[in-house]
Amino acid sequence: MKIDDETLNKIYDKTRGKCHLCHKKLAFSNYGVPGARGAWEIEHSKPKSKGGTDHLNNLYPAHIKCNRQKNNGANKSIRSKHGVRNAPLSYKAKRKKVIKNAIGYTATGVAIGRIFGPGGMLVGGAIGAILGSKRKTDQ
Ligand SMILES: [Zn+2]
Repeated sequence: MKIDDETLNKIYDKTRGKCHLCHKKLAFSNYGVPGARGAWEIEHSKPKSKGGTDHLNNLYPAHIKCNRQKNNGANKSIRSKHGVRNAPLSYKAKRKKVIKNAIGYTATGVAIGRIFGPGGMLVGGAIGAILGSKRKTDQ
């Protein structure tokens, strides 16, 4: 499959430069260089043999090694070997999740702080926001 740099970048950024099967770092410059450190290639999340397409939403970056291991199998079986369930989040999805966590924790903090009156609500909300934004969202 012939691919231009822009598409390559888009696919690489989909997982923040991580293999979508094992979540370890890929080396952008080692695209299609078997044996190189962090060597990767574009992987069809749904194999073409199973009706997967060449659309961007079906393409993910993966180590050449991981991709070979997957062969025509399921993402799930390779990921479970590495103790992960989903593809790593994109920058955008990750940012969204951080904001969502912060909002959720702020609301919880305000609710708890309410017991202690208006001052408690402020303190509780602030603590919640800090906790929420620091929550681990990486996958
Ligand atoms: Zn991998």
